[in-house]
Amino acid sequence: MYHKFDVVIVGAGGAGLMAAMQLPNASVAVLTKVYPTRSHTGAAQGGVAAALGNQEEDHWKWHMYDTVKGGDYLVDQPAAEILAREAIDAVYELEHRGLPFNRTEDGRIDQRRFGGHTRNFGEGPVRRACYAADRTGHMILQTMYQNAVKNQVNFFNEFLVLDLLINDGVVCGVVALQIRTGEIHTFHGKAVLFATGGYGRAWRVTSNAFACMGDGMAIAYRRGIPLQDMEMYQFHPTGIYKVGVLLSEAARGEGGKILNGKGEYFMERYMPTLKDLAPRDIVSRCIVQEINDGNGVDGKDYVYLDVRHLGAKKIAEKLPDITDFARNYLGVEPITEPVPIQPTAHYAMGGIPTDIDARVVIDSQRTPLPGFYAAGEVACVSVHGANRLGTNSLVDLIVFGRRAGKHIASFIAENDHVTLPPQHEDYSRQLVDKLYSSTGGESAARIRSELQNEMNDNVFVERNERGLSHALDTIDGLRDAYQGIQLQDKGKNFNTELVEAIELGFLLECSEATIHGAKARKESRGAHYRLDYQKRDDVNWLKHTLAYKGTKAHDVRLEYKDVILIDDPIFKPKERKY
Ligand SMILES: Cc1cc2nc3c(=O)[nH]c(=O)nc-3n(C[C@H](O)[C@H](O)[C@H](O)COP(=O)(O)OP(=O)(O)OC[C@H]3O[C@@H](n4cnc5c(N)ncnc54)[C@H](O)[C@@H]3O)c2cc1C
Repeated sequence: MYHKFDVVIVGAGGAGLMAAMQLPNASVAVLTKVYPTRSHTGAAQGGVAAALGNQEEDHWKWHMYDTVKGGDYLVDQPAAEILAREAIDAVYELEHRGLPFNRTEDGRIDQRRFGGHTRNFGEGPVRRACYAADRTGHMILQTMYQNAVKNQVNFFNEFLVLDLLINDGVVCGVVALQIRTGEIHTFHGKAVLFATGGYGRAWRVTSNAFACMGDGMAIAYRRGIPLQDMEMYQFHPTGIYKVGVLLSEAARGEGGKILNGKGEYFMERYMPTLKDLAPRDIVSRCIVQEINDGNGVDGKDYVYLDVRHLGAKKIAEKLPDITDFARNYLGVEPITEPVPIQPTAHYAMGGIPTDIDARVVIDSQRTPLPGFYAAGEVACVSVHGANRLGTNSLVDLIVFGRRAGKHIASFIAENDHVTLPPQHEDYSRQLVDKLYSSTGGESAARIRSELQNEMNDNVFVERNERGLSHALDTIDGLRDAYQGIQLQDKGKNFNTELVEAIELGFLLECSEATIHGAKARKESRGAHYRLDYQKRDDVNWLKHTLAYKGTKAHDVRLEYKDVILIDDPIFKPKERKY
């Protein structure tokens, strides 16, 4: 089936919908493999950062400073400036579109503390996160979806995009599988935006939804587009023990504390100023350190998040959802008991490289690929560098989703549809047919769980050469095994086994780029902590990794690209002390 639109947006999370809202005069298709309001943005809990200064003095420049420093200086500074400056207006846009934020006594948007967000260039915590209880993402997604429906955006729900179409160096569409029927569809557009989210499902313990399989990154990568800084993957300190489901940093923003097995409030010892509200890479490392020192609960691999002292009223008002998660998943009552937690795979700082207008750029000279845009977690602009601050992803979605939409509006006004490449559905049809016809006897579930265990064991909070080499061998083996996947279900309608097998292919691509980048980066920076190279090395490594898929199996080519710094001494890379 063939469809023609001005704009094809893949992904109905915060980034995709924010872009769609900027295009009222264009014909826009939004493709999503899950129902729109099931996108992972709906799971975001704690808040969205903007220096509104509603609770205490704040400035966008302080926000920019925290973002650059929090990212351990692997941040493109002009992009961080845009993030911090435009956050303010973007949050007001959401408010005006109807988002029910929590309010201050005098009716303004309420703000709470979050890790790494400080006043006056690092002096102490500041209230910068705008929030709707602990379900901010849910409110954002519902508000945006209602606006998109009002604006007559064309939704194609439960369509799994398989391929990106490029003709003569211009992106002109995508090919997708309609999950309900098993049919292949082509969507022809003047511009394509990928807003497909992250790939947290590569790890066993993760906060990410089942759909976070790295689709957009892998599809671009297979088409010769590099993936940037994939080794920079964030582990959030407070996932529910074993399950990984997130207990938002909002719990600590409201005063919750992390305790070790001896009941000691250990963050005081590691980070005297920010304590529990130090950036996530640091808190996760401190937890792992405590566990390695035998200070986990009963000597095991977990510690506690304690909110008992906040009292039942505040917990019910400010943290209703996450305390319910503790009750439902662990049978623990947070009002009277501490909650077992451990670091959980959470957020991709890396992704498809873009410029500040969300245009995809494909080399170290930042050459744009015309017609192709990426925004949200799938993209790397790069505002998060080596470590993202809490509440800075939702801002990224709305600021750069909005910039993508605005740039696309002018691009489609100036450009016509490019013709589709010949046999444009062949690649996708072969991908699907091969899975239907294979008799290799292998199962996607087995490969996926081996991948997730390997990533959790060797590509986690702490890394070293031996572990990363082991992970590479495992991935190479799993990629070979993938060729032998055999489906039990040969049906066409809602074949979830087929969908899972295709998604596993995406996950393997993202994992491969992650491990190669991590193995090559011989320093410690942000979330990438190497036990065998414990220092940050600005002389050799203040640069972005670009991973290109090689021509032979298991082959990955790495290139590097400069980090953009601005000429202001306050943002000059220095040691990251808090
Ligand atoms: C539990 C949790 C809590 C969080 N809390 C916060 C927070 O409080 N503050 C904050 O700033 N950040 C938070 N984050 C991070 C933030 O929520 C995410 O980074 C962000 O929502 C990602 O949004 P997105 O629009 O990029 O993608 P998503 O919301 O993940 O949406 C991806 C979309 O792409 C579609 N898609 C993917 N692949 C395909 C394909 N092949 N074909 C068709 N469609 C496809 C999906 O169907 C979906 O619609 C949290 C993350 C998690 C997991």
